[in-house]
Amino acid sequence: MKNFDVIVVGSGIAGLNFALKSAEKSYRVLVITKSKIDDTGTRLAQGGIAAAIADYDHYKQHFNDTLEAGAFHNDKKAVTYLVKHGKEAIERLLEVGVKFNKKDGQLLLTREGGHRQRRVAFVADYTGLAIEEALVASVHKNKRITVLENTFVAELLIKNKKCYGVQILRDKKFENIFAKVTALATGGVGQIFEHTTNPGISTGDGLALAFRAGCKFKDLEFIQFHPTVFKFRGQTSFLISEAVRGEGAFLLNSKGKRFMVGKHPLAELAPRDIVARAIFEEEKNGSGFLDFRHKTTDYLQNRFPQIYKELAKSGFKMKKDLIPISPAAHYLCGGIKVDLKGKTSVKNLYAFGETACTGVHGANRLASNSLLEAIVFTNNVPKVNHSAFANRHSEFISESNHEILKPPQGGAQQVQDDATTTQKHQLAALRTNLQKTMWRNVGIVRNSTDLKKALKFAQSLLKKIHNAQTKESLELRNMAHAALLITKAALARKKSLGCHFTTI
Ligand SMILES: Cc1cc2nc3c(=O)[nH]c(=O)nc-3n(C[C@H](O)[C@H](O)[C@H](O)COP(=O)(O)OP(=O)(O)OC[C@H]3O[C@@H](n4cnc5c(N)ncnc54)[C@H](O)[C@@H]3O)c2cc1C
Repeated sequence: MKNFDVIVVGSGIAGLNFALKSAEKSYRVLVITKSKIDDTGTRLAQGGIAAAIADYDHYKQHFNDTLEAGAFHNDKKAVTYLVKHGKEAIERLLEVGVKFNKKDGQLLLTREGGHRQRRVAFVADYTGLAIEEALVASVHKNKRITVLENTFVAELLIKNKKCYGVQILRDKKFENIFAKVTALATGGVGQIFEHTTNPGISTGDGLALAFRAGCKFKDLEFIQFHPTVFKFRGQTSFLISEAVRGEGAFLLNSKGKRFMVGKHPLAELAPRDIVARAIFEEEKNGSGFLDFRHKTTDYLQNRFPQIYKELAKSGFKMKKDLIPISPAAHYLCGGIKVDLKGKTSVKNLYAFGETACTGVHGANRLASNSLLEAIVFTNNVPKVNHSAFANRHSEFISESNHEILKPPQGGAQQVQDDATTTQKHQLAALRTNLQKTMWRNVGIVRNSTDLKKALKFAQSLLKKIHNAQTKESLELRNMAHAALLITKAALARKKSLGCHFTTI
C-alpha cells in the first residue's frame, strides 16, 4: 500500500485517463480522490469535446479559433499539439466506451461559442457524465489500479525540489505514500467564488499543493466566467450549456432585445468573456434571458434532456418561458506551469487537466477544449526508472525530518475528534466570506483597489488557519492559497486581456 509507481491525485477525466494509460504500461497505480470517485467537475460537463474531425474542418481552423478566443496569448506550440491530436482523443474515448451521439454511424457534431465550425462531439447534454462513467468502469476493471476514495491529499512529499509522493489524511490519520511519479489532476477553483458552476470539490487544492512544493505557475489571473448559469430567486444554480446557443437560442435583455447583435460578429456565439461581460452590463438594468421558444418541445426534450428537466423542477418550460441567466465562475485557464508532457518545475511531479497550464487556453479558453486538453496531454505517460526509485525512496526516508512530512502538531486523531460544532460553523463562515470577497473583488470586472482588498483578506485568512489539521480546515487553507495566487496574478496584469478585465 505504501509504494507505487504512479500516484494520481484526482479521479476526473485527466486523473483517470492518466491512471489507465499508466496501467497500460504495467505500472502499479494509486488513484486518490477526496470524495467519491465520480464526484468531479468532469461529470458536470454538458456541451462536449472539440476536435477537427469532420471532412469540412481542419485542425488549422481549430487552431485559429483557439487562438482568437485566447486573445492570442496562447502557447502556439501547445495549441498545435492539442488540435493535431483531437482525432486521437476522440478515438481514445470511443475505445474506453463513451457512446457519443451518432447518425448513420457518423459522429454528430455541434457548435459552441468561438467555433467557426461544428466540431464538438457530444452525448446529449451529459457528455461529462458519460465520459466519467466509462473511465470509472475501465478503472474498476483494471487490476493494476488501486483507488482510495474519501482520502484527502494534504501535502506533497518534497525534498531538494523532487517529489517523492503524498501525505494523505484518511480515517482521521495522516500517512505518507511514496511513488516514482506523482500527478496532480485536482481540477478547478470555482469554489473560491460565491457564484460558480463547479462542484464542491473544486477548491484549488492542486494549486495550493504545488505552491507549497515550490512549483511555477502561469496565467492564473484568467478565470473564465460562464455567461449562462440559471438564476432563480437570486441564486445561481446549474449551467445552461453553450450548445443551447450553438443550436440557435437567443440572448435577450429585460426589454426583449438581442443585445449581442452588433456587439460581436458571432453575436450569441462570441467568445465567453465577451458574452459574460455583456450580460454583467445588462444586469445593471435588469436581467439577461435565454430564449429558445422558437424550437419544438420534442426537439428541446431530446437534444437537452437534463437541462429541460432541471428547468422544469423550478417551473420553467423551455418552449414557453424566457430563462433567467447570470454569469458564474467556471474555468481556470491558467494553472501549474507544465510542458507538453505534463512535467512541472519540480522533479517527478506532473500536472494534468484543469489544474495544469499547458498554455493552450491563453487568456480565455475556447469552449469544449478542456476535455480535449485533459485527454490529449494524459495520453502520453512518462517512463518510470525502477532502479532510481529505490535510491530516492531511502534518501527520502533518511531525511524524514523535513518540515511538511510530519503530521500536524498534536496528531490528527485527537484534533478531529475535538472539532466542535462551533468550530465547524466558524470554518463554514470563513469559507463563505472568502467566496463573497473573491466574487466582489476578483470577479468579472476588476480594479486594483478591490484586488488589494481581496489579497489582504486571503493573507489574514491564512494566518487564522495556519495550523489546519482537519479536512475542512486544510481545504479552506488551500482555497486561501489559491485565492492569494490568483489575486496576485490579477494585480500583476495591469491591462485587460481575455477574461481578465480591469478598469484600472
Ligand atoms: C458545469 C460544467 C460544465 C462543463 N462543460 C464542459 C464542456 O462541455 N466541455 C469541456 O471541454 N469542458 C467543460 N467543462 C470543464 C471540464 O469539465 C473540466 O475542466 C474538466 O472536467 C476537469 O477535469 P479534471 O480531471 O481536471 O478535474 P475534475 O474532473 O474536477 O476532478 C478533480 C478530482 O480531484 C480530486 N481532488 C481535488 N483535490 C483533492 C485533494 N486534496 N485530495 C484528493 N483528491 C482531490 C477531486 O476529488 C476530483 O476527483 C465544464 C465544467 C463544468 C463545471
